[in-house]
Amino acid sequence: MKDSSVEITQITDSVFGIALWDPSWHSYNNCYLINRDGKLLLLDCGKEDQGNLLIKALTQLHVESDSIDVFIATHGHSDHIGASHLFQKAEKWIHRDDCDRLSHEQIEGFNTFNSNIGELYGLSYLLLGHHTQGSIALYDTTTHCLFCGDYICFFGDKLPHNGLLTFGQDLRDKTRAFMVSWSQNSTDRHTYQFETFVQGLKLLSSYKDAMFLATGHGPILHKQIADFLDELVSIDG
Ligand SMILES: [Zn+2]
Repeated sequence: MKDSSVEITQITDSVFGIALWDPSWHSYNNCYLINRDGKLLLLDCGKEDQGNLLIKALTQLHVESDSIDVFIATHGHSDHIGASHLFQKAEKWIHRDDCDRLSHEQIEGFNTFNSNIGELYGLSYLLLGHHTQGSIALYDTTTHCLFCGDYICFFGDKLPHNGLLTFGQDLRDKTRAFMVSWSQNSTDRHTYQFETFVQGLKLLSSYKDAMFLATGHGPILHKQIADFLDELVSIDG
């Protein structure tokens, strides 16, 4: 029988999406494995107590924890960095604005992105500064994967029938509806910094050739990514 606690989907030749089921949250926490010129990069790693599940998933991909060369956190929430201690040999990265989210033990091993925009191992990163202060997106120009962490994610949503990839019209509609109602509520606009969120969307939508929106939780959107992001930006009322 298929193990539903982890879903592994090959997104491109060199990128795998790994979604770890979290029974306490009823959601998938996503991680991504990228093979870049022989170096293995891991983006996000789930919660600390999901470490065993992630190791199991990596084993299925014939990867040992000590073979991970680089670990990058999209942001400092525990469901994205909790199991990072398992990757002893990896060079670890997080944006400096999320450093205060790391424990004393964790902070030792991390390097920090100190600017709003830059590049690391062929991935462009940019600071989004919403969701958490130090939330970043990463764009892989080789594979056209846009990794957006929790900036847009499908927390608690069911997975498509075949792996993680979907065009996801229903998810796009739901995101749009959520933003429309947010934009129309002046208290929520202020409280949850709607304008800052839209600024981040504008940055994300600048990756015109993105083919995949690889989210922090659940399904990964495939195709017409810039169109989708432009549509969200246009909600700014
Ligand atoms: Zn998250």
